[in-house]
Amino acid sequence: MKFAKLAGIWIGLLAFTTIFFINPAQAELKVVTTIPDLAAITQEIGGNKVKVQSIAKGYQDPHFLEAKPSYMVQLNQADLLIYVGLQLEIGWLPLLIQGARNPALNLGGKGNLDASRAIQVLEVPTGEVDRSMGDIHPEGNPHYLLDPRNGIIVGQEILDRLKLLSPKDSAYFEANFKNFRDKLTAQIADWEKRMAPFKGTQVVSYHKLFEYLMNWLGFSAAGYIEEKPGIPPTAKHLAFITELIKEKKIKIILNGNYTDPKIAQLVADKSGAKLVILPAAVGGEEDIDIYPKLFERIISKLEVEFRQLQSFNVRP
Ligand SMILES: [Zn+2]
Repeated sequence: MKFAKLAGIWIGLLAFTTIFFINPAQAELKVVTTIPDLAAITQEIGGNKVKVQSIAKGYQDPHFLEAKPSYMVQLNQADLLIYVGLQLEIGWLPLLIQGARNPALNLGGKGNLDASRAIQVLEVPTGEVDRSMGDIHPEGNPHYLLDPRNGIIVGQEILDRLKLLSPKDSAYFEANFKNFRDKLTAQIADWEKRMAPFKGTQVVSYHKLFEYLMNWLGFSAAGYIEEKPGIPPTAKHLAFITELIKEKKIKIILNGNYTDPKIAQLVADKSGAKLVILPAAVGGEEDIDIYPKLFERIISKLEVEFRQLQSFNVRP
């Protein structure tokens, strides 16, 4: 009798845990993204039907990340992997996918989403590019999420994939996407208006990180401190870029928050230009926890710097 009673309690407990712990977990899609911007967009669309984790944090350089076993465990349990593509993650993601032993995440699998598929890629090389030479943008510039209009394009891709993986939640995902898109579209118009007076401004940038941002807002880089993306500058190139800054009277050097600012600071000191560090991803600075906040911070910082240039009457 005692045994039967105990067994009954155990069965009851088991049923309880099954209902409360296994079912909700099954209801949620487990999504792993490579960078936090993709995680933030997925969260907005997936809402409480997804559990999203980003491998890289906003303060980490996604070009160079260590393929840790803990990431393989995350991927092993994931329903969906979303990545930037264009070889941004090539140094570490293939290793993680291999180690994850999760067939759904393999190339062509339902759980493998290359977010760059619908993007109009900038700086696609026309000649042959040899990655062994160190150029880390061999398929064109991968920093397309720094144009919020591309965030909407990627959001649409994520929406389609979430619907495919969880058709019963389609209407919910669609409503969330519409909300995300409409709010962001209104903000984009506001950011464009605020930045309109500064069209044509020239800056120098450390890495080719802000091409999509500049392309969107109408300012440009006169040169780069890196000779080629990912290749540290030689002394000769540093002398060249310092001269260029002086000659063109460039006042601003941009550096992304996850890139070491030491060399850019050196060039700033030698040339007289000001080093401005911008967040380059969600989580890159305090309080940037959603995708639109990344742009609000970037635009606010640029507005201050560019306005100062105008007040000094420095012609861009
Ligand atoms: Zn890059």
